Amino acid sequence: MDISVVIPLYNEEESIPELFEWIKHVMAANHFTYEVIFINDGSTDASWKKIQEISNQSSNVRGLKFRRNYGKSAALYQGFKKAQGNVVITMDADLQDSPDEIPDFYHMIIEEGYDLVSGYKKKRYDPLSKTLPTKLFNATARKISGIHNLHDFNCGMKAYRLQVVKNIEVYGEMHRYIPYLAKNAGFSRIGEKIVHHQPRKYGNTKFGGLNRFFNGYLDLLSLWFLTQFGFKPMHVFGFLGSVMFFIGFVAILIVGATKLMAIISGLHAPLVTSSPYFYIALTMMILGTQLFMAGFIGELISRNSLNRNNYQVEDEI
Ligand code: UDP
Ligand code: MG
Repeated sequence: MDISVVIPLYNEEESIPELFEWIKHVMAANHFTYEVIFINDGSTDASWKKIQEISNQSSNVRGLKFRRNYGKSAALYQGFKKAQGNVVITMDADLQDSPDEIPDFYHMIIEEGYDLVSGYKKKRYDPLSKTLPTKLFNATARKISGIHNLHDFNCGMKAYRLQVVKNIEVYGEMHRYIPYLAKNAGFSRIGEKIVHHQPRKYGNTKFGGLNRFFNGYLDLLSLWFLTQFGFKPMHVFGFLGSVMFFIGFVAILIVGATKLMAIISGLHAPLVTSSPYFYIALTMMILGTQLFMAGFIGELISRNSLNRNNYQVEDEI
């Protein structure tokens, strides 16, 4: 099979039939063998009925229905598990992404050798309250992930080589960082393609508000931290802890030595507790020990992790 189209959807009853007709048309015109996998993420409208209807008409349609709403990442993850096509294409169900782009995405993966191609909505038809935070967000994501050629991490339309989707785990709100997840799994040929974007035809956006923005940043931070230090917590915490402890220790030696010198030379020797350096030294030593312990406990936990020996094997002879 050439292509699997994975479509996560939450209350998109109006768009589903129209979207499928459009995809069907594009696939037929290009002679692709394909499947369309609809993941109904706990919709409360007639979305599932619409999917049933089109699956009766066409054997290329597959569907999965969550009992409740789990979020776009969960939907994508399940869709990825089911996908069988050599190229997996994800797109939103709301008709903001155009199926006409599918052939170009396919060729970039198959002929130009990309592992992942991300769409780039250069001209967006969303309100400013969405586009402005997105710009900021993408700049940060580029910096942290080290994928400098992507302008639009969160674009719903992306294409993947089949191995990529089978080897990444999208959970929580991580659908915003799939290129970063792919990079961490060792898929480094990541490209971008400018896509056309349309205003939402039916319904409203499912991702509104400031929450999206803050959660997005927190996820990015935890992902960064996990990939940087997740497997070697001792290297960060142990190092910081040791440095702090050392500084505190030297400081306490100086405080003690000053006191001794004063006593020996018969000068008036104030209490060590009246020196601010004493308290600084004390705090440094305590914090240093705690950081060190945090590193050590982290190390014990990662030693017990089920994934500790999961490596990405690309080939075997
Ligand atoms: N979506 C989903 N589960 C959710 C929220 C959204 O499957 O909990 C789907 C939604 O139906 C759409 C896609 O994710 O197909 C993108 O959502 P939306 O268009 O609302 O996001 P926007 O384009 O406004 O960023
Ligand atoms: Mg949309």
